[in-house]
Amino acid sequence: MPSKVHNFGAGPAKLPEEVYEVIQKELTNFEGTQISLLETSHRSQTYMKLNTEIQNVVKRLLNVPDNYKILFLSGGGTGEFAAVPLNLISRTGSADYVVTGDWSAKAAKEAKKYGKVNLVLPPGGSHTGIPDQSQWNLDPNASYVYICTNETIHGVEFDFVPDTKGVPLVADMSSNIMSKKIDVSKFGVIYAGAQKNIGTAGVTLVIIREDLLGHALPICPSILDWAANAKADSILNTPPMFAIYIMGRVLQWVERNGGVEGMAKNASKKASLVYDIIENSKGFYYAPVAKDARSKMNVPFRIGNPGNDALEKEFLKGAESLGLIQLKGHRNVGGIRASIYNAVTVEEVETLAKYMKEFQAKYS
Ligand code: PMP
Repeated sequence: MPSKVHNFGAGPAKLPEEVYEVIQKELTNFEGTQISLLETSHRSQTYMKLNTEIQNVVKRLLNVPDNYKILFLSGGGTGEFAAVPLNLISRTGSADYVVTGDWSAKAAKEAKKYGKVNLVLPPGGSHTGIPDQSQWNLDPNASYVYICTNETIHGVEFDFVPDTKGVPLVADMSSNIMSKKIDVSKFGVIYAGAQKNIGTAGVTLVIIREDLLGHALPICPSILDWAANAKADSILNTPPMFAIYIMGRVLQWVERNGGVEGMAKNASKKASLVYDIIENSKGFYYAPVAKDARSKMNVPFRIGNPGNDALEKEFLKGAESLGLIQLKGHRNVGGIRASIYNAVTVEEVETLAKYMKEFQAKYS
């Protein structure tokens, strides 16, 4: 393995190098307290201040309107798969799920435990695109419409906000939050596990419009009850403080680097570098996702169509020997996947692009 590696893992994913420097400096003496945040009370002024500070960074970065609450919860994305129906489905007893990949499918499956789930798209698709909204079967009586704005496994990303005709829109943004500007006011709930674009596993950022609080089913565990957590300002119990702190330091890094607009500019540059090579490879590389739904965060591709397993293995082996790591596609889809989240630099993606070109020249 070369001394420098470039991590293209889908998550837990690369954190900005600068953030590691900050964390190292602060690890044993947090803001002059002479103790680590790891051994600080969650009810201390030190932590309360940090809690507010991070809420404010989120607010500034996404321009979150005042009628939204910002929560830091545990349980990951999977926890929210349950929390969403537990908190919202009581409104009408049913919910619309737009299944565009494995993560929204998992969320729909979880929701079925708590109410009726209407599949907006015909089931069994290949998850290589997002059908036009004119083909969606939306139920005007749904408690909410659920989407996953970026399917991490299939590399399918929404480039539009669906019009749900007033039904609250709930979005899992685990793998593309803070990668571009969004209009928060178009969403009822946004959530994101931190371990891809904004930190490390353990905390989920949840942003909720206030009128959607207070509708939880009686069986909803307190720890998943958004209203209870909002009332307690995300300190209902001992929160995953260190993960929250890391998320805060990553978000401050985003802010120092041009905010979400800066991230979006880089994301477009990085995604083009990879997709252009695929497009210009005369079929040597193959990207299965339709152009208008191609993710700027996760680029899955095959060598040949159908993929050539042996050549893909060779590709991954060669990549590792150059320090380009964690490029293996998800086991559900196979092939190769380059995850190019905010912390992955343009230079790193250029290194990958160079390798892709050389590999093609050698094997085509
Ligand atoms: N949603 C998306 C889009 C994901 O990529 C993932 C994890 N890869 C999850 C949800 C599940 O998150 P967790 O592992 O934190 O439960």
